[in-house]
Amino acid sequence: MALLIQNGEIVTDAGRQVADVHCEDEQITRIGRDLAVPPGTTVIDATGKYVFPGFVDPHVHVYLPFAGTQTRDTYETASRAALLGGTTCFIDFVNPERDQEPLECLETWNARSRGKSACDFTYHMTVSRFDAGIESQLREVVARGITSFKIYLAYKGIVGLENSELEPVLRLARELGVIVPTHCENAEMIDQRQRELIAEGKTGPEWHYWSRPPVVEADGVRRLMMCAERTGAHVYVVHTTCREALAEAEAGRQRGVDVHVETCIQHLLLDKSYAERPGFEGAKYVMSPPLRDKADQDALWAGLREGRVNTVATDHAPTNFEGQKSMGKGDFTKIPGGVPGIEHRVPLLFSRGVGQNRLSLEQFVRIASTEPARLFGLYPRKGTIAIGSDADLVVFDPDRETTLSAKTHAMNVDYNAYEGWTVKGWPKTVTVRGQLAVHDGEFVGEMGRGEFIAREPICV
Ligand code: MN
Ligand code: MN
Repeated sequence: MALLIQNGEIVTDAGRQVADVHCEDEQITRIGRDLAVPPGTTVIDATGKYVFPGFVDPHVHVYLPFAGTQTRDTYETASRAALLGGTTCFIDFVNPERDQEPLECLETWNARSRGKSACDFTYHMTVSRFDAGIESQLREVVARGITSFKIYLAYKGIVGLENSELEPVLRLARELGVIVPTHCENAEMIDQRQRELIAEGKTGPEWHYWSRPPVVEADGVRRLMMCAERTGAHVYVVHTTCREALAEAEAGRQRGVDVHVETCIQHLLLDKSYAERPGFEGAKYVMSPPLRDKADQDALWAGLREGRVNTVATDHAPTNFEGQKSMGKGDFTKIPGGVPGIEHRVPLLFSRGVGQNRLSLEQFVRIASTEPARLFGLYPRKGTIAIGSDADLVVFDPDRETTLSAKTHAMNVDYNAYEGWTVKGWPKTVTVRGQLAVHDGEFVGEMGRGEFIAREPICV
C-alpha cells in the first residue's frame, strides 16, 4: 500500500515547503520534489493545498458518566467525526470513580474502543483515590503504555482527589515519569456558591458561571503549582479559561514548576453570554470551568502566540440538549457539563486563528498537533511530517467555506455549539497510517483500523 501526496505545501511546527510526501507500510518514507510514482501508488494532488500532520486532540471524552447518564458518542461515531475534521489521534480518559478499580475500568474502556475506532487513540488514566492497592495498579497501567494520570481538584467524593492524596499521587507520577493533566477548581468554593445561588432561587444555566468564577479556577491552579513545586511532578493544566488561572500557572513556571497549559477551542471562541441565552438554551454552553469574557479570550490567544499556552483541545463531551442537558431545568447544578467539539476544533482554529491573523501556520500546527503529541509521548510517531513518522496526514483546502450545523455534523449529539457559523478552510483528504480515511471531504475510513497507541514515559 503506497500513497503519494503531490505538490502540497507541507507545514510542520518548524516551517513550510512545497514538496511530495511518499508513504509506504503506514509510514512516511520520502519527502521531496517530483518524487517518482511507482506502479500501484495512489496519487493525491495537493496543489494549492496545505499538507498538515494529522491533528491530535489531547482531551476527549467519548464515554463520560454523569449523574446516571453518559456522553453519547461511541468509538465509531467519535472517530468518524474526528477524522472528518482532521483529527487523526485523540486521547480519551479512563474514568474510574472513587469506588472503582483502575485496571477493571481500563478493561471496560478497552471493550468499548478496541476494534471499533477508525483513528488511533490512547488514554489518560484518571486517579480518583490513592492507597497502596491503587499504587500497584497504576504501576501496571504505566507498564501498559498509559503514561498520563488525570486528576481532579473538584468533584470530591466522585472522581476528585482528597487534598491529602494530591502529593502522594504527584510523587508517584514524578517517580514513573508520568505527566499529570489536572482539572483545577476549588471544590469547597464551588459547593458553597452552588448552595447560596440555589437558595436564592438562582437556578438557571446563566448562574453556573457564578458558582465557578475565575477565583475558583485560579485557586485550583495555585494549589496545583504548590504541590508540583514540592514534588517535582510534571503537570498540565487542562481547559484553562481565564487570565487569573493563566497568571497562577505562569507564577509557578517562573518558580521552576514543570507546567504546561491547555485551553479549549470553546474558550477561545465563545464567551459567557452564550450561557446566558434565554429559554434554557444557555444549558448547551454549561461546562466547567465556564465560558468567560472576551478579555480572557484575548489573553488565551496571546498566550498561544507566545508559547505560554501550549495546546488547544476540545474537552469533547457530547450530551444531548433534549433529555440530557434538560435534566438541569430548574437546577443548573444538574446540567451535564461539557460541549461537543471533536469534529470542528481544527477548522475553527484554522479559520479564527490563522484566517484572522492570530496565529501563524506553524503555530497552528504546533498547538493542535505537535505539542499535544510531544507532551503525551506520541512524538515523533505523531505530530509531525518526517521520514519514519506515521503517515497521518491532512490535505487541507484553505478556501473551502463550510457552515457548521447539527443537521450536517457527524458527532452523535443533537446540537452544535457553533450552529450557523461559517468557517473558511476544511480538510479535503485525511489519512490514517497511509490509508485514506477522508477523501474529498467524505468519510471513507475503516472502523476498527484505529489502534490503541501505547506510550513511553517521557519525563523521567
Ligand atoms: Mn474537567
Ligand atoms: Mn474533561
